[in-house]
Formats: sequence, C-alpha cells, structure tokens
Amino acid sequence: MKTPFLTKEKALEISKQIPTPFHVYDEKGIRANAAAVKEAFAWNKGYREYFAVKATPNPFLINILREYGCGTDCSSLTELMLSDALGMKGEEIMFSSNDTPAEEFVYADKIGAIINLDDFTHIDYLEEAIGHIPETISCRYNPGGVYAVSNGIMDNPGDAKYGMTKEQLFEAYQILRDKGAKRFGLHAFLVSNTVTNDYYPALAKTLFELVVELKNETGVEISFINLSGGVGIAYQPDQTPNDIAAIGEGVHKVFDEVLVPAGLGNIAIYTEMGRFMMGPYGALVTTAIHEKHTYKEYIGVDACAVNLMRPAMYGAYHHITVLGKEDAPCDHTYDVTGSLCENNDKFAIDRKLPEIEMGDILYIHDTGAHGFAMGYNYNGKLKSAEVLLKEDGSFELIRRAEKPQDYFATFDCFDIFDKLK
Ligand SMILES: *Cc1c(COP(=O)(O)O)cnc(C)c1O
Repeated sequence: MKTPFLTKEKALEISKQIPTPFHVYDEKGIRANAAAVKEAFAWNKGYREYFAVKATPNPFLINILREYGCGTDCSSLTELMLSDALGMKGEEIMFSSNDTPAEEFVYADKIGAIINLDDFTHIDYLEEAIGHIPETISCRYNPGGVYAVSNGIMDNPGDAKYGMTKEQLFEAYQILRDKGAKRFGLHAFLVSNTVTNDYYPALAKTLFELVVELKNETGVEISFINLSGGVGIAYQPDQTPNDIAAIGEGVHKVFDEVLVPAGLGNIAIYTEMGRFMMGPYGALVTTAIHEKHTYKEYIGVDACAVNLMRPAMYGAYHHITVLGKEDAPCDHTYDVTGSLCENNDKFAIDRKLPEIEMGDILYIHDTGAHGFAMGYNYNGKLKSAEVLLKEDGSFELIRRAEKPQDYFATFDCFDIFDKLK
C-alpha cells in the first residue's frame, strides 16, 4: 500500500495557481528522512552525505538538505555552478564525474571541490588541465565481475564504464602521492537502486579491506571512503523500504571489524545518495484529459515522458494513485499514456486502477529523484513546474514551468527569434 502525501483537495488548490502537470515535493518527508540519514551515520565522526545533484537539481530542495549537514555531489559544470551559487565551500562539494572535459576540472578546482578521478589516465589529464595535483584527491574503484543485486539500471560492475581496476587504483595513489597529494579518498558505486539493507555494508567491507591492503602494500593511507549512491527505494507497493538505521549500523559493524583493528578508525565515511534522499518525497501530478477505447483501454494524461522518463527509458514501475479514489476498487485495466509520438511514452501498461473519469487527477509516486531531472524537450514539449508542499501545508513554486520562449532561447542570436518571443 502506497499513500500519497497530497490530498485531492490540496492538488486541486495547487492546480488553480499552477496548472498540471507539476512535480510536488514533501518538505516534511525530506526533513524526516535527512534527519534519519544523519542519525544512522552519527557514529562516524567525519560522516557527510553529498546529495547527488543530478537526481533533483533544485536549489530550494538542496538548501533543505544542507540544514542536515549535506553537501553536494556534482557530475557537471552546471551542477558545480549551482553548488557554488548556493554558497557551498570546498569540501562541501564532491565532483564525481566521468569522461570529464578539461574545463570542468578547471572549474571544480577553482571552487575547491574534491575531485574524484574516474580513470587512471585522468591523473595526467587533470594535471595538464589545472597545472597541478590537488592536495586532496579521490579515486573511483571498479572491482569488475558480477554483483549479486540486479535491477536493470546498472548491474554488473564488470560491464560498467566507471572506475579503475585494482591494479590501476593502487598505482594511481602512489603516483598522486609522488605528485604531492596528501589526503586520499576512495569511491565506488556498484549497483543502482538496491532495495536491501545489505548493499552498503557489503560494499563497505570490500572497500575497507581494500584500504587496509593499500596501506600495507603502498603505505598510502585513505582519509575518506565514499560509498556513493545506489541505496534504493520501494517503487513497488509490495517492496519493503530500506531501513537507513540498519544500513548505518551494518556499515558501523564492518568498520569496527576491519578498519578499527587496522588502526584506520579515523576514516570518514561519505555517501552520495540521490534517490534515497529525495525519491519518495516527490510526485508527478497530472490530469486525465483523454480516454481511448481501441484494442486496449487508454487514459491520456497531460504529462508525458518529458516530465518523467524512467518508465519509457527503463520500463521502470511508478505506482499511480487516482486522487480521491484511494479506496475505490482497482477493477479497470489501463495503459496510462503521455502525448509524445513514441509508443513507449506510457506511465503504466496494463495497470489495475479505479475507473478514471476525465478531469481526475493522477498522482504518480516516487518521482522526487531522477524524475524532473531527466526531463528533455522531445516533440517540443516543455518541462513542468516544481512545487514544494511545506510542513505547514502551504505550498510554494520552486521552479516555474518552461515557456515556449525558453525552448526557443537558443535561437536568440538569430532573426527568427523575434517572431518566437
Ligand atoms: C547517480 C550517482 C549518484 C546517486 O545515485 P542514487 O542511486 O540516486 O543514489 C551518486 N554518485 C554518483 C557518482 C552518481 O553517478
């Protein structure tokens, strides 16, 4: 059973001011979860969550997380710019990118972000780009092979484009040390959206043992270990959500077993969660505008894959609640579609739902991460507004919807733009 954080009355109230479709975020849920994450890792002195900006690049939401000590994890120039504009300083910003252009390294270095190198060859590339090797630097590890937890987004480390092999990693740290680096981090991201409390502890064990081996073999001491993202959420109603307290305790246990006896009990643990921080606390609110009876029963809504790409891209499941019909029997079978000229533009296929009437408001769950953010402009469709439902029940626009002028803005240096304004 999945329960919306928005009532039909509130959705109607918002939609009078901000027409559907829009993404809405639940401040109360974001805060409670961020506090629980902080508490789960409070045993580790240096702990910090670097929120993966790519999941939900909205400054208002990021500022809420900052109140709980979160920094940002960036993967591009604009994400770095956003963090800088929010007043984040140096080590509050992690730059975990891959296939990184030189100018992004330059900008990251300028604002003092921690640079996490995806590849061995990036040592020379970085040095060439910024003229030196930073004192603090991190490396991304890929153990290869197969990982037990699978999900269709990123499964087997051996097939993933990210990170260095163990041999490369050990050599990288020694080269970086010779080039003047003084503080080292280790990063790995093996599987996406794991719905199990065992992923972080298992990853931690792998990384902790590696760090002990690195110290023994090379004398390089790691200062922080970044467990990155991958902690999932229960998109399906029958899944059991992850318990962050149990996850934190699981990592704590391995920390005490592996790092403390090796004299490495001062290592800071970092995380870069995106989905877990925000996913369940966002929803896409959309209105049913068409019903179509052909070989199947279709409900056409005013949102499309431009607003939420995950179902089209990965066949991802997003639960749907018809607001005001929470208790009605799900005795109809529908494909819920958007308007793109793409047959995969379906939020649900053969979904059991209550009978839907035109004008009904559909609440698409768990769009708070990798939802709005993945948006694109195919078919010239425009991205929606984002709305914050505050703790006191009021709401605030935190990003306006795109206007045609935004879509045409990249023609602003051409004559035709005057007619499109
Ligand atoms: C996407 C990403 C994250 C966040 O992943 P989630 O699964 O949303 O937690 C963290 N770190 C890096 C490097 C990423 O690419």
